[in-house]
Amino acid sequence: MNKVIGYLVLLWCLVYLPPRGVVAQPPRSEAPDSRTQPIIDSAMTEAEAFAGLDPACPPEVRARQKLVTVTYFGFDDKLHQGQLVIDQQLEQDIQEIFRIARECRFPIQSVIPISHPQFRRNGRWDDDLSMQANNTSAFNYRVIAGTTRLSNHASGRAIDINPMQNPYVRGDYISPKGAAYNPQAHGTLTAEHPLTRAFRQRGWDWGGTWETRQDYQHFDKPRIAEE
Ligand SMILES: [Zn+2]
Repeated sequence: MNKVIGYLVLLWCLVYLPPRGVVAQPPRSEAPDSRTQPIIDSAMTEAEAFAGLDPACPPEVRARQKLVTVTYFGFDDKLHQGQLVIDQQLEQDIQEIFRIARECRFPIQSVIPISHPQFRRNGRWDDDLSMQANNTSAFNYRVIAGTTRLSNHASGRAIDINPMQNPYVRGDYISPKGAAYNPQAHGTLTAEHPLTRAFRQRGWDWGGTWETRQDYQHFDKPRIAEE
């Protein structure tokens, strides 16, 4: 009889007691998990990403550009998805660097091609509007501000990251307007930052080390002339 009761108790335990370590799961939320499901900041088509391109841009320069999708943590600490237009040869560098940015939780405001209507002035791509919005961008067929020389952005071989935290500084002049460079602030690049190191290890130059002016947002990797 005792044996029978023993078997019954054992059977009851097997059927009704959950295995150790298993905790009842709360009902699943319907909201997407921002750690795995990014918030979409940019989802432009190829045609949209190049609409309004300066007609002076040579076709061979245009042909090298690629619309690339990237993911990053925003200042809201949520995962976001954006897009960059960059020389196709630099795509791997950019994806590796964005992976490092995610790993070290470096916050990025937004990554939207400068061709987006919100960054257009008189129909043209406007770097000032992009910077004012603290937007990260790469390709823009344009000259260096205040000069007639083409920027490395004009070949898709330069990127500007978080311009408000990493402004262009020359003496008292600072751009974008209202920006400040504070190495302690979240989203700011310094010489020792893992992101700056990652760029430099891959042969990119950082504007934060320039002598007469500092362009803390700017990294470039000029194309080595082919023989
Ligand atoms: Zn730049």
